[in-house]
Amino acid sequence: MGYSHHIAHFNTGLKAEEHLIGLLGRHHFLSGFRTYKKALSEITTDVTKQHPSAIDRPAYLDLYNQFGKGESYREFLRGTTLFGVYEPFIPDGIEVNGQTLLMPYQAYTQRYLNDWRYCPRCVEEDIEEGTMPFFRREHQLPAMTLCHKHQERLLVLCKECHQQDKELEKYSYPAGTTCKYCSCDLEPIDSFVNTDILWVQQSMLRLMRGEVEILPLSELKQLYQSQLGITQYCGGFTVSGRNMNQLAQRDFDNYFDPRVFRALFNNCDGNASLKRPPALNLHNVIFKEGVVFSPVVHLLIIRMLFGDIDNIPSVS
Ligand SMILES: [Zn+2]
Ligand SMILES: [Zn+2]
Repeated sequence: MGYSHHIAHFNTGLKAEEHLIGLLGRHHFLSGFRTYKKALSEITTDVTKQHPSAIDRPAYLDLYNQFGKGESYREFLRGTTLFGVYEPFIPDGIEVNGQTLLMPYQAYTQRYLNDWRYCPRCVEEDIEEGTMPFFRREHQLPAMTLCHKHQERLLVLCKECHQQDKELEKYSYPAGTTCKYCSCDLEPIDSFVNTDILWVQQSMLRLMRGEVEILPLSELKQLYQSQLGITQYCGGFTVSGRNMNQLAQRDFDNYFDPRVFRALFNNCDGNASLKRPPALNLHNVIFKEGVVFSPVVHLLIIRMLFGDIDNIPSVS
């Protein structure tokens, strides 16, 4: 694990809106060490896959031990990472204690989930204020394509010259609108928006800020099951059970504009008969155990069934 028994020398502090892992990138840059791993050697050994989307990981615990101010570990994560959007959807039995890397189920199927995103206007403002540009948590939320402050399309780090999975380790902080390595213009990310996508984005912000109360996950899944009429696969489906499941899935697949799925997931339309990505298999969402489904998946189901997260009925 890390070196939590002593306080490392940090040459930079965490900013109010900053993602915890973004701090490590900046620390690397300011340290003068060439490699990320070496720069962090007194802080953490958890230096690979520095994606913004990790729900829990040893580096978070190591930073909690450095920066925590008496709050619980979960409170710390809510204030510094995307934990608030994942927390309502973590099943009982999955520990959040900084011991292992916990990622959302099939994270690779969700567009931009593992990319560090930033807004060019926010970067300009940072520079005007004499601050080194930093990665905001809001921009790293699942499904987020626009700046919550400027409504500007977000940018991602250069795809032309990055090494696979090395983005933060290489870039350290948000660039401007051109790549600082190969000088190519950075393209804004693809951002189809309609009322459903904007609703998902707004709901993500509310979840992250702790503005929403959601039913315990086990009750939420019961509601999905009863509302959708989906039955458990138990050594084989009955004919009616299979039909019910297929109808529910088809209703769901057709509920949204297909562009919504394409905007949110990488692997849509992989097969002409399948509009949705596998992560949106309703049967899995309801019955699969031991994984954390993305809040995007839950929000889409909630959108279809109840319209809004504020309208979820209680289980009777
Ligand atoms: Zn902005
Ligand atoms: Zn480049």
